Amino acid sequence: MLIDTYGRVATDLRVSLTDRCNLRCTYCMPEEGLQWLSKSTLLTDDEIVRLIDIAVTSLGIEEVRFTGGEPLIRPGVVGIIERVAALEPRPQMSVTTNGIGLKRMASALKAAGLDRVNVSLDTLRPDVFKSLTRRDRHQDVLDGLEAARDAGLNPVKVNTVLMPGLNEDEAPDLLAWAVKNDYELRFIEQMPLDAQHGWKRDSMVTAGDILTALRTRFELTPEDTGERGSAPAERWIVDGGPHRVGVIASVTRPFCAACDRTRLTADGQIRTCLFATEETDLRGALRSDAPDEEIARIWREAMWGKKAGSGLDDPSFHQPDRPMSAIGG
Ligand code: SAM
Ligand code: SF4
Repeated sequence: MLIDTYGRVATDLRVSLTDRCNLRCTYCMPEEGLQWLSKSTLLTDDEIVRLIDIAVTSLGIEEVRFTGGEPLIRPGVVGIIERVAALEPRPQMSVTTNGIGLKRMASALKAAGLDRVNVSLDTLRPDVFKSLTRRDRHQDVLDGLEAARDAGLNPVKVNTVLMPGLNEDEAPDLLAWAVKNDYELRFIEQMPLDAQHGWKRDSMVTAGDILTALRTRFELTPEDTGERGSAPAERWIVDGGPHRVGVIASVTRPFCAACDRTRLTADGQIRTCLFATEETDLRGALRSDAPDEEIARIWREAMWGKKAGSGLDDPSFHQPDRPMSAIGG
């Protein structure tokens, strides 16, 4: 097991397949000038599959989420998923994607064994999409979402970040659209993980703002009456059901106490938290022919050192040097 000193057990592994992307979302990357990870440091497909194998057979990982950067631009992504689907025990697998590649790849991903997708879409307005992502690809994302649903990668979840002055007025429209199209919408609070370090707490759109806006048009009933569990999204039943909407309030309602995640970057570093400022290298061990048991030991030791929380509310909070795109969101 991957257990830490607070008794939390990590069963969910986020694997970043690349730090590169075909969009440039303002809350994530600068327009240009971001330094990419060097090719020689990137894990190969074989190295990634070997680490996931160790994670599921020796460390209790039950769920693997591929992310990035944009995971669908990694040439070997379908092959990696196919090989992970053949592992024993077979983990649940999902991909977090901007959706652009799904029109072309959804069927192949499903056939390879992918269970689900989370697609990021922040706006229904093509012009706002272009300002927010700096690319004119709105229709490609909408087509990708449909392709994912038609390929059976369900439930298709949609991740939305609201930005002041850009798309903050779209929450009710986005929910109406998601209900109509049978997508499960989740709003994510903007976090201080952009490469430009431009995040400001006093200008972010909070979970409270989002719920107030949604309630102007929908009746929302809290889904859970008991414990929140490890799921980061708090969910509400929309207009009596069956549809749900989620809010991931990492900033204003952090869920660190129930966190069940461990992260692997595209260059082979273990991170115990999105906001961690320290990493543990697995690439070196892999490339010096360490046996599986040694790699599992290093991973366990890294998780043992996981901090209690993100530290966002601590006056000494320091934004990690790695941006979200290189951590794997
Ligand atoms: N490129 C893929 C995508 O956009 O879905 C996967 C990687 S992206 C880093 C993963 C998720 O992180 C996306 O839903 C994106 O909206 C979100 N994200 C990126 N930067 C963020 C930030 N500063 N705060 C909150 N969410 C962010
Ligand atoms: Fe690319 Fe995803 Fe970052 Fe947007 S959020 S720039 S799609 S990695």
